[in-house]
Amino acid sequence: MPVTHHTPLLVIGAGPAGYTAAIYAARASMEPILVAGLQPGGQLTITTDVENFPGFAEAVQGPWLMEQMRAQAAHVGTRLVDDIITAVDFSRRPFRCEADSGDVFMAQTVVIATGAQARWLGIPGEQALSGFGVSACATCDGFFFRGKNVAVVGGGNSATEEALYLSNLAAHVTLIHRRDSLRSERILQQRLFAKPNVTCLWDTAVEEVLADDGKRPALRALRLRNLRTGAIGEMSFDGMFVAIGHDPATALFRGQLGMDDSGYIITEPGSTRTSIPGIFAAGDVQDHVYRQAVTAAGTGCMAALDAERFLAAELSTTRQAA
Ligand code: NAP
Repeated sequence: MPVTHHTPLLVIGAGPAGYTAAIYAARASMEPILVAGLQPGGQLTITTDVENFPGFAEAVQGPWLMEQMRAQAAHVGTRLVDDIITAVDFSRRPFRCEADSGDVFMAQTVVIATGAQARWLGIPGEQALSGFGVSACATCDGFFFRGKNVAVVGGGNSATEEALYLSNLAAHVTLIHRRDSLRSERILQQRLFAKPNVTCLWDTAVEEVLADDGKRPALRALRLRNLRTGAIGEMSFDGMFVAIGHDPATALFRGQLGMDDSGYIITEPGSTRTSIPGIFAAGDVQDHVYRQAVTAAGTGCMAALDAERFLAAELSTTRQAA
């Protein structure tokens, strides 16, 4: 039977931002409830080696890291709920959030940490080789391609920045774009074109990611189509970085919270406060610039502290009025 839960703080989302918010809130005796959502663990669950999360001298596996964060959140007293929030009403407090199971969460404050998803090409081989040559984050995975031959797909700021970043690590970078010019900022383009180890392949679509025959899955080549001539060919690569944009998971909050044109939740600079007092946003759902597990965790911590201070200020105002 559906149950109504009451909590001082509801965390929506179970990536580094959500778990960190829950850990801080639980340790501040806020008795948080965290509703994990569709992909508990977030983007790190589709990553293999993680070498840039501080605290681990050796590479750790993304899914393992997220299990640890989940266990830590539970250990300090978070109530973890495997459910999906399907509707919210932020028009009055307590905020009402309804879950797929029919359960309702009435929350004094909410931390939104629903993250963002990289857009994928949706071509054969892409998902099978994700984490084995296919990536959507050069900062995360570029290191594994030192001295190698990589492709970057896309033509916006992300693709140009990813290609620039990789040009300092890889032996060669081929930027593959479906048009004959980039839409990224001129300054980025100038930097890219000045790189001796970067080539642009224009008017080209990637049609398939081809695997090596070895025991461990590995990318061998890309099947490419020239969109002007229709010619199809194969090109050898060690890795492919897809940089065709991200989609923040904010459809649920549309019309209720301030968002930018791309759907990212707007937070006040230097805080996690959103356009509604008592609602806070952390991690990739409000960050299209850094998008790192460690920055998500950092803003998760900020969100818990912001929520705690919000409730404390409210309590002190109520006491003064009484
Ligand atoms: P974006 O600007 O939307 O560019 C996406 C690129 O991927 C476009 O070139 C697009 O091609 C291509 N693309 C989309 N779907 C594709 C598909 N299915 N197959 C092949 N190519 C596809 O995305 P973004 O570069 O991630 O940037 C998103 C936002 O963040 C932008 O507002 C950007 O300015 C901002 N951003 C800013 C910075 C910065 O300021 N340093 C860095 C990163 C991102 P078409 O050109 O043909 O549409």
